[in-house]
Amino acid sequence: MTSTPITGIHHVTAFAKDVQANHDFYAGLLGLRLIKVTINFDDPSMYHTYFADYSGTPGTVLTFFPIPNAAPGRVGPGQITATAYAVPTGGLTFWQDRLAAEGVSVSEVFERFGDRLIAFPDPDGMVVEIVEPAEPEQRAGWTGGPISPEFTLRGIHAVTYSSLHAEASRRLLVEGLGFEMIAAEGGRERYRAAGGGPDSLVDLLDGSGQREGRMGAGTVHHLAFRVADAAAQGSAMDRLRAAGTLTTEVKNRDYFRSIYFREPGGSVMEIATEGPGFAIDEPLEELGGRLCLPGWLEDRRESVRARLPELRLPSGVVLP
Ligand code: ZN
Repeated sequence: MTSTPITGIHHVTAFAKDVQANHDFYAGLLGLRLIKVTINFDDPSMYHTYFADYSGTPGTVLTFFPIPNAAPGRVGPGQITATAYAVPTGGLTFWQDRLAAEGVSVSEVFERFGDRLIAFPDPDGMVVEIVEPAEPEQRAGWTGGPISPEFTLRGIHAVTYSSLHAEASRRLLVEGLGFEMIAAEGGRERYRAAGGGPDSLVDLLDGSGQREGRMGAGTVHHLAFRVADAAAQGSAMDRLRAAGTLTTEVKNRDYFRSIYFREPGGSVMEIATEGPGFAIDEPLEELGGRLCLPGWLEDRRESVRARLPELRLPSGVVLP
């Protein structure tokens, strides 16, 4: 079998209810950079917002589909049930205090695979974790936001996946996606993309026999892995097919190219290219400053934006 072209996580995409509350939590309280405001390319009636480091480096990106009338979802098997962001050693106390001061119900510090972490819900109940990895975090994070540079969230460290069919998920992770199991503890198995960096961990939980998750506000829609380019994406598609999983055709998401598949444990997953990146339609220093639309929607800009709620940006201005 060929070596895996997957080098780690690209992004996690979730549902939210209120675009402003979601933005204020991730860009304000957590201090990620809002790097793109566009619409869901498959349903332009809703925003698609992206939070990340300064430039939107794959592996730092968390994105949302905010749907004003969304019913609350139920976090459970068949979904990514937690997303963990890494901070440098010594950062957890700062984050506990900051979150508690804003009324967020934050856990005590606990340990997992030698890492120290805290967990808390976002405004829609999605579980976010902040981790001090045992192997110290080296990524820079975004230093232009409200958080002191020593404490900024550096990027995704790991996601937790609760599978409805753990054995099939295990097989797909290893044979189809090229991950290797590196640790097991308390019913949790940790997998790493071969040759992957600090953003390449997937923790697998056996969720069989538990009540299945239901999509809605506060739940993850999909997890995207990353590959270098179109050729690597083709290899990933071939490898998945050989493991018995078919993907969609390649879809142009403007900022990357994507293929999607339904993982046997219930979740939608994606494989996205690293490029071309988020600076194709606005300069790096102005990312997230305006509503960006794909070319095929540009001539309907006014009717598209008329259906979207107002969004006040970190600068205080309303999204132009
Ligand atoms: Zn995606």
